[in-house]
Amino acid sequence: DVDAADSLRGRVLRVHGLSSFVSDANGKVWNCSVRGVLKSLSTDLQHVVVAGDYVTIRQFEGSETDQAVIVRVEPRRNQISRTSRKRQQIIVSNVDRALIVASAKEPGLKPNLIDRFLVTAEQAGITPVIVINKADLVDTADLQPAIGVWCQMGYRVILTSTITGQGVQELRRVVHGRDCVVAGQSGVGKSSILNAIEPGLELRVSKVSSENQKGRHTTTTAQLIPLSVKPDESNDVIGQDDDSEGDEYASLYRKGHLIDTPGIRQMQLWDVIPEEVAGYFRDIRPFINECRFPNCSHTHEDDCAIKWAVADGKIDARRYESYCSIRYGDEP
Ligand code: GDP
Ligand code: ZN
Repeated sequence: DVDAADSLRGRVLRVHGLSSFVSDANGKVWNCSVRGVLKSLSTDLQHVVVAGDYVTIRQFEGSETDQAVIVRVEPRRNQISRTSRKRQQIIVSNVDRALIVASAKEPGLKPNLIDRFLVTAEQAGITPVIVINKADLVDTADLQPAIGVWCQMGYRVILTSTITGQGVQELRRVVHGRDCVVAGQSGVGKSSILNAIEPGLELRVSKVSSENQKGRHTTTTAQLIPLSVKPDESNDVIGQDDDSEGDEYASLYRKGHLIDTPGIRQMQLWDVIPEEVAGYFRDIRPFINECRFPNCSHTHEDDCAIKWAVADGKIDARRYESYCSIRYGDEP
């Protein structure tokens, strides 16, 4: 049985084939296999261990010093999964925040696309944060109508520019100590934002992608990248941290992670059941039980409380359009 003395709690940073790379509280990364009994208890071998899992590991006796075995996987608080070829694939677990990145211009703001990401985050039980990048390219007053509607529902909206640095400190405070996935259309500035949050990340990101180019695990590999920047450090003091190496790693572990998920970055909508969509709209949800038909789709039915609320201006008409397009699975 597990001897508590040589057991460590750790976090799975990534899974590659049969190896899980697990960071312990000191930041040491262990190359772990999975204990046979865990595999035999599972009906779903692919998901015995996924990136983001908290695990208990035990060092292999007499083996190389970074070799260990995972003896326990803690229950997942949440997970991001998607269906591919009719199989559900868990991509990452235990996520705190989803940064939904859009751009104000080039490409222009698509509120409907943001609503789709919001639904996905609500479904997964992950707090979304809306990041509208390239604020330097527009008069931000023009964005206020859309932003106002999201803010009223309690969503946090951050305007950023990786060129002027606007919003970057605020973003650092949002991600600090948390584990954040980043989603958004191609070209909105996700990589630029990741690098602005964590200067020096560029190297690590490119390392991930060159590994992917070898053709293994191309679409689903998620990697937790430890954050090292304190929220209020300015760019020019980074790298001058005078912590000793050991301390630096210990604090890395508490500073949270950016989760790089090449396969889901551009995904527009993770799997949502049509009947459940309304429940993931914070502004529509309160009216659902007032509809005449319990299975109301809120589109063509009479006596629909949602349609009344739209007519009365209690639900924003643009949000209702988003709802209808998601409900019917339209392409954005
Ligand atoms: P990604 O595909 O979402 O990762 O986007 P990238 O980070 O690769 O950025 C796409 C393009 O937008 C690049 O040419 C960036 O230089 C540019 N870009 C990123 N952030 C900003 C910004 O805040 N303002 C402006 N004007 N351009 C930006
Ligand atoms: Zn209805």
